[in-house]
Amino acid sequence: MADPKGFLTTPRQDWPRRPVEERVRDWHEVYVPGALLPIISKQADRCMDCGIPFCHDACPLGNLIPEWNDLVSREDWRAAAERLHATNNFPEFTGRLCPAPCEAGCVLAINQPAVTIKNVECAIADRAWEEGFAQPAPPDRLSGRTVAVIGSGPTGLAAAQQLTRAGHTVAVYERDDRIGGLMRYGIPAFKMEKRHLERRIEQMTAEGTKFRTSTAVGRDVDAAELRTRYDAVVIATGATAWRELPVPGRELAGIHQAMEYLPLANRVCEGDLETSPLSAAGKDVVIVGGGDTGADCLGTAVREGAASVTQLDIYPQPGTERDEEREPWPTYPKVYRVSPAHEEARDLRTAPLADTDARLFAASTLRFSGDEDGHVRWLHLVEVDEQRRPVPGTERDLPADLVLLALGFSGPDRSDGLIDQLGLDMAPSGTIARDQDFATNVPGVFAAGDAARGQSLIVWAIAEGRAVAAAVDRHLTGGPTRLPAPIGPYDRPMRV
Ligand SMILES: Cc1cc2nc3c(=O)[nH]c(=O)nc-3n(C[C@H](O)[C@H](O)[C@H](O)COP(=O)(O)OP(=O)(O)OC[C@H]3O[C@@H](n4cnc5c(N)ncnc54)[C@H](O)[C@@H]3O)c2cc1C
Ligand code: SF4
Repeated sequence: MADPKGFLTTPRQDWPRRPVEERVRDWHEVYVPGALLPIISKQADRCMDCGIPFCHDACPLGNLIPEWNDLVSREDWRAAAERLHATNNFPEFTGRLCPAPCEAGCVLAINQPAVTIKNVECAIADRAWEEGFAQPAPPDRLSGRTVAVIGSGPTGLAAAQQLTRAGHTVAVYERDDRIGGLMRYGIPAFKMEKRHLERRIEQMTAEGTKFRTSTAVGRDVDAAELRTRYDAVVIATGATAWRELPVPGRELAGIHQAMEYLPLANRVCEGDLETSPLSAAGKDVVIVGGGDTGADCLGTAVREGAASVTQLDIYPQPGTERDEEREPWPTYPKVYRVSPAHEEARDLRTAPLADTDARLFAASTLRFSGDEDGHVRWLHLVEVDEQRRPVPGTERDLPADLVLLALGFSGPDRSDGLIDQLGLDMAPSGTIARDQDFATNVPGVFAAGDAARGQSLIVWAIAEGRAVAAAVDRHLTGGPTRLPAPIGPYDRPMRV
């Protein structure tokens, strides 16, 4: 802490965003390039270097936040990068994508705006790449043990990097044609440009990790046979079985799942397609589901040139302040947040809706109706109370010729046959069952990330990848491991 009074004298300042009219015309990240560095040391100086840093506890990775805040305030970027990478394989991913439970738990947040921890993380990560501090770290010698990691999302990548660096020979199997999981074909480029992924894949390849794309285990390779070829297998296949909306009219054309829509938009950005076959251009779009996936659809539809976009949330609009009874500090509160995509949709609205939120809260879909060609044209909704009971007289109709369902995910997708071929036990929640060592019922097979935890966040996925790597290393060597395990399989976010 270069300035012990920094938190008293410096107000919080976030990474400035580009003007809405400019950024909706491209797919680049929403932030002003280069605008973080000039402000970030002063921002890091706001950290009070608390004796008990709750920010550190609120982060599943156990990021050494006060340490790197201090190093950034002193502009010692090399040491900051070293401390950051000590707990996080991919800080440029979390620095852009994490909802930052650390900031909700920051002691400063009790009575004033939290330290901009996520921005500090991102600045260190980007600087590490620019200065060449993020060099490949191949192992000194090989163990002679082999590991197959199935799935290349943040869980699989973190597990693979940890195990490769520990000396094991690791191959990552991915059914898609590119590496990255939901960071590749789910999350849009305006939240994180794919060049960040490419750079890490190059680093991992140089360290010795092998990647096998377009290979669905269970379909293209028999899972049981793969088990016999490797000393251990890590299943990190995510939880992408989407939830349905079983209401009348669901069968109409023009109603799609978010994860049918978002990958096509991402493929346009990758240069695979000229335009998306599901493009929102010129359409009245309604997104059903108030979460982050819905917000990603919103930002994508805006960039594709939708005529109008509305997002429906079944929950009532949350307050702007933390509910101290139900979600006291340092837990992560449900409050009214305006993401960049919400800001864009709001600012682009015209009279009579100018400047209004594109979200409708406490809104439940009753049914869809369509035209004579069987294409959706209207979404019929009703307002609901806190118990989700319809409020009489509140029915209304929204024009809708593209409807996107973003209702969350129920568990791992079983269509490839991987789970059945291995004979894996499932937990009552529908995820892959595992013990306290991340081990499944099949010897030598481990499960991690969303596939075992259920739908979660990038930061938890990286923590899962690091923790499963420690368990696999113990299994392979039969002894203690030097790899860190930041979480156990049953750890959950801080709650009251
Ligand atoms: C649209 C969307 C936006 C999101 N935005 C954010 C965000 O901004 N911030 C955040 O923190 N979290 C976000 N999340 C959640 C986050 O992306 C996930 O929690 C995280 O990616 C889970 O990581 P994972 O590695 O466990 O699984 P995934 O990222 O789902 O990766 C699993 C991989 O396994 C592959 N696979 C599956 N089956 C097989 C098989 N049989 N053979 C070979 N490969 C297989 C899949 O193709 C996939 O690449 C978002 C989720 C979605 C859907
Ligand atoms: S809780 Fe906030 S002020 Fe305290 S050490 Fe962490 S970032 Fe700094």
